Amino acid sequence: MTTTNGHGDTQKIENVIVVGSGPAGFTAGLYAARANLSPLLITGNEYGGQVSITYDIENYPGFPESLSGPELVEKFKAQAEKFGTRVEFDYVTELVLDRHPFLVRTESGAEYQTRALILCTGARPRYLEVPGEKEFTGKGVSYCATCDGFFFRGKDVIVVGGGDSAAEEALFLTRYASRVRILHRRDKFRASKILQDRVFANAKIEVIWNTVVTEIFGENGTVTGVKTRNTVTGEAGELKTDGVFIFIGHIPNNDLFHGKLDLDEDGYLITDRKMRTNVPGVFAAGEIQDKVFKQVATSVGQGCAAAMSATRFLEELEAGHAIDLRTDPREFMTPRAAVMA
Ligand SMILES: Cc1cc2nc3c(=O)[nH]c(=O)nc-3n(C[C@H](O)[C@H](O)[C@H](O)COP(=O)(O)OP(=O)(O)OC[C@H]3O[C@@H](n4cnc5c(N)ncnc54)[C@H](O)[C@@H]3O)c2cc1C
Repeated sequence: MTTTNGHGDTQKIENVIVVGSGPAGFTAGLYAARANLSPLLITGNEYGGQVSITYDIENYPGFPESLSGPELVEKFKAQAEKFGTRVEFDYVTELVLDRHPFLVRTESGAEYQTRALILCTGARPRYLEVPGEKEFTGKGVSYCATCDGFFFRGKDVIVVGGGDSAAEEALFLTRYASRVRILHRRDKFRASKILQDRVFANAKIEVIWNTVVTEIFGENGTVTGVKTRNTVTGEAGELKTDGVFIFIGHIPNNDLFHGKLDLDEDGYLITDRKMRTNVPGVFAAGEIQDKVFKQVATSVGQGCAAAMSATRFLEELEAGHAIDLRTDPREFMTPRAAVMA
């Protein structure tokens, strides 16, 4: 389908644009492509998403030998392209959602119209930003205990942080590590009382208060310790360890959505079980709407669900239902486009 824009140019109207090239985005592309929708996928600046900075993935089903993050990204891309996903290396700078078809503007100056959108812009861990952190990411520095805990069987690890994530992940790490030391910059935790009780009751966990990491160092490409500073006395110190798990927050990539889509108190997109946002025709998948599971496998599943919902939405549209952009589709229990009142 084509239309004419304000400048008299003829513009193609896309069926569906997927924003983001992480596991959720490529899976949404794959499913939309196999539904014959010829989706356009805009990669963003982090091609492959967080997976591309993952050293080794051992917990994605179907790959018992494990594989590197970049290898998995190439497989995701190849499979999505095989069925007709068009991959564009660009960055979305603006979404216009109060009209239909929606408008998508990008850094390169392109403007697209699309009848459906699948937002998979993901999230990023908050970094400590100390020397050695980048260098040793995947080589002893981790942001995900579920992903990497297994590599630290019988080893010593340090957890940095004082909130719920730090407490939960420290507890999880005690399944593998021989000792877990939590370094927290204050003298009390922000974590919920129940998690704190579990942390204090766990014989494998030791808490070091009022302490920040100032450097991560290692030998032969793996972490061997951290340099520290006491936030009260200013005293510098050093701790030997095999791994540093950093849980000082997770930041959803939501710049595009403020004032346009419903976000929760932590800035994540709010979706229902069918991956619908509050605007009909706009779906979201992966870590931009999931702050709980944060895995490749869960992001892939959500990308699949979002594309299936988008396909149903387009079928409804094709069947002649008008769309009322004021109606929150999450109010309905069955997939449907809101019929214009
Ligand atoms: C170091 C590390 C190791 C990990 N290890 C594992 C592991 O072993 N197993 C596991 O299951 N999980 C692991 N994870 C978690 C896993 O990588 C994430 O859960 C998963 O990548 C989330 O997928 P996503 O598609 O939602 O988003 P992301 O992977 O975050 O991808 C987001 C995408 O959106 C794009 N984007 C953002 N803004 C824009 C924009 N404005 N325009 C266009 N595109 C945009 C980005 O470029 C990126 O491509 C790890 C994470 C990290 C950081």
